[in-house]
Amino acid sequence: MPWFNALIRDIQFPTNHVARSDLAVVIRDKFPKSRQHFLVLPWADIDNVYQLTSQHIPLLNEMLRLGLQAIEVSRCHRADFSMGFHMKPSMRRLHLHVISNDFTGRGMKTEKHWNIFHTDLFMPFGSILAELEERGHIHQRSPAYIQSLLSTPLECNQCDRQFETIVTLKAHLLGHLVAIGAEP
Ligand code: AMP
Ligand code: ZN
Repeated sequence: MPWFNALIRDIQFPTNHVARSDLAVVIRDKFPKSRQHFLVLPWADIDNVYQLTSQHIPLLNEMLRLGLQAIEVSRCHRADFSMGFHMKPSMRRLHLHVISNDFTGRGMKTEKHWNIFHTDLFMPFGSILAELEERGHIHQRSPAYIQSLLSTPLECNQCDRQFETIVTLKAHLLGHLVAIGAEP
């Protein structure tokens, strides 16, 4: 099975389910980029956001509801999470990222991992919903635009400091965790 179908395979196992309904399911990201990182996927075979139409708005709202349920399971606060889709996803089946804002997960290893969550490459749930309501579909961005976003300088999401490498940024992010009294 090709690697990009692994999500489709893994949602079939009930032991992976954090929450589920008739329309969608939540699993934990296998390579979490934050301390809490969930993925919400529909059961319907929809590849990505570019296949969505305004008819899918009820499905998106159900995915949001399940994402909020996963945050409750994590016993964290909604305000400490971001929810959205990647502009250029690597894995098949549409998936909504539900991710805590620390970005200190063991899977946060490369500059690309940072930039796909901290530039326009991360498309917030609300903007996807609004685009579907306004246009009836999600427009494809150009490869050149995507490439330019990938080389955005690394900047902390909690202060305005910039970093040369993901290693130094991650050490800095752990400092933010310690500052709020969380265990790094
Ligand atoms: P993307 O396609 O960029 O939106 O992200 C795909 C996400 O799926 C990444 O955050 C990966 O860490 C995650 N991932 C890859 N394989 C699995 C798997 N088998 N189970 C759960 N999450 C996975
Ligand atoms: Zn900072």
